[in-house]
Amino acid sequence: ATMLEVKDVSFRYANGPWVLHNVNLKIEDGERVALVGPSGYGKSTLAKIMAGFLRPEKGTVLLDGKPLPKGEYCPVQLVYQHPEKALNPRWKMKYSLKEAGVLDPEIMNEMGIREMWLERWPNELSGGELQRFCVVRALGEQTRFLIADEMTTMLDAVNQAHIWKFLLRHADKKKLGIILITHNMYLAEQVASRIIDVPSINKISVRTEDL
Ligand code: ADP
Ligand code: ADP
Repeated sequence: ATMLEVKDVSFRYANGPWVLHNVNLKIEDGERVALVGPSGYGKSTLAKIMAGFLRPEKGTVLLDGKPLPKGEYCPVQLVYQHPEKALNPRWKMKYSLKEAGVLDPEIMNEMGIREMWLERWPNELSGGELQRFCVVRALGEQTRFLIADEMTTMLDAVNQAHIWKFLLRHADKKKLGIILITHNMYLAEQVASRIIDVPSINKISVRTEDL
């Protein structure tokens, strides 16, 4: 079976302490997993490593047994809390989507993206509108896994429900795996069939919170 595998991954930021220590994790195609646990246990760092934004100091991330492809559209896409940071402020929305190779009118329509928004700049849209773009942008042909790192935490309940309803329907259709990082246990139980307590897979010894 195809899968995403985190194998013996250790990581630390420059001159910092170990943030991830020998982390192992396997996620199957189409599986929905929630990563939960207190702040500071390396959930976001692990997300960035799985999506290829950061390189592990030790260990590897494998997709179907091979290292993640570099320099092209990554099959593991990350959507995080701050859509305004993920979009180029000097690109119109239309261009941000085109650049990612995602301009599927059906997906945009289902996601409630209005035609007029395509001509706008990121600073001319609301947080909820921008996050819809980020989700759509993450749903390219090559996408196999989507990591949602506190993806809807900043949004109101209506926007949150709309985005998740659309995303789960799309994930079903495309057999997309979902990796959810959240402090909202209700959302984790709604979305995921497996809940992983990150401190149980990331046994780093000393943490600032513990001092
Ligand atoms: P979580 O998502 O579980 O809250 P993070 O992965 O965000 O955990 O952070 C894990 C640890 O790494 C924390 O101690 C945090 O301070 C540190 N950290 C996160 N980002 C950076 C960074 N860019 N530079 C240095 N340290 C960082
Ligand atoms: P947070 O405070 O949420 O951990 P940071 O500001 O520490 O976020 O890190 C955000 C950085 O991570 C961005 O500057 C960007 O380089 C990178 N990044 C993470 N996810 C994405 C994404 N989906 N698209 C683009 N850049 C991303």
